[in-house]
Amino acid sequence: MKCRSCGKKAAINMRHHKLALCGEHYLEWLPGQVEHAIRKYRMFTRSDRLLLAVSGGKDSLSLWDILWRLGFQADGLYIGLGIDEGIAYSAESERLTRQFAQERGLTLHAVDFPREYGKSIPALAGRSLRGQEKPCSVCGLAKRHVMNRVAREQAYDVLVTGHNLDDEAAVLLGNTLNWIPGYLLRQAPVLEASRPGMVRKAKPLCRVYEREMAAYALLRGIEYVYDECPFAAGSNTNYYKELLNKLELDRPSAKLNFYLAFLQAKENGLFAPQADPKAENLHSCPTCGQATTTPGDCTFCRMLGRIHRGP
Ligand code: SF4
Ligand code: ZN
Repeated sequence: MKCRSCGKKAAINMRHHKLALCGEHYLEWLPGQVEHAIRKYRMFTRSDRLLLAVSGGKDSLSLWDILWRLGFQADGLYIGLGIDEGIAYSAESERLTRQFAQERGLTLHAVDFPREYGKSIPALAGRSLRGQEKPCSVCGLAKRHVMNRVAREQAYDVLVTGHNLDDEAAVLLGNTLNWIPGYLLRQAPVLEASRPGMVRKAKPLCRVYEREMAAYALLRGIEYVYDECPFAAGSNTNYYKELLNKLELDRPSAKLNFYLAFLQAKENGLFAPQADPKAENLHSCPTCGQATTTPGDCTFCRMLGRIHRGP
């Protein structure tokens, strides 16, 4: 297989794009794809201050590298979750994230969740690795809260995450199989800050395959944490990703088509905003000021309140 640009040996063959490229041309091509998505979905401009959530994984670190190379003003936010049972997952993620930022002279904010909120994520969820259930819903809630809090406190214009096409297609499959209109309505490359207390969110990698991000990290020599969070194994999202990978193998570009056709259907009015009754009930949490649909305090503040009051 030869590079379409120069004829040298290809480093990656992307059947879904009918395109093979050598390392050098791939490292030029991918940032161009990301910039195209940023413009197409009007995510942000070079004058915006961006806060990028970085986990130490290949997607967020590679995205930071791409935004930096493209000349965007992106600072990082690392959230230490205290997931260090069995393997030092959080400690290693933080080490690699700090190393990445230091090597490029980039600004990194770090929030140590157990220190600031009194408990690690597994402890907050009341479970350990030996437990039956996963702490993912608590973790998701906590991460969203902290990301939004830091973005507001530091007056960032946009909160950026490294969700790739595989992540988005898997979530979409789950939401479609369960037909959850509210979630389908809110799944988008950009989420506007429609209420006070909310920060605008963007996902510049939403059209980039996970495999493409892994190739980018490898070719750029980015050192990232290879291990997944120990709680990710056996999750619904991973199961949907496996299903979509099988589909993609037989039908190249099935994942991309699935996601893009969904966005097109939404643009054509398939999910009207009135389909989300929850959006009507949004108000500011009296404790933390973030937007919530629950009466009184938001779910995160209620959870913390319960922990601090004790059983
Ligand atoms: Fe949090 Fe790990 Fe679950 Fe991801 S897999 S939501 S990092 S606990
Ligand atoms: Zn709150």
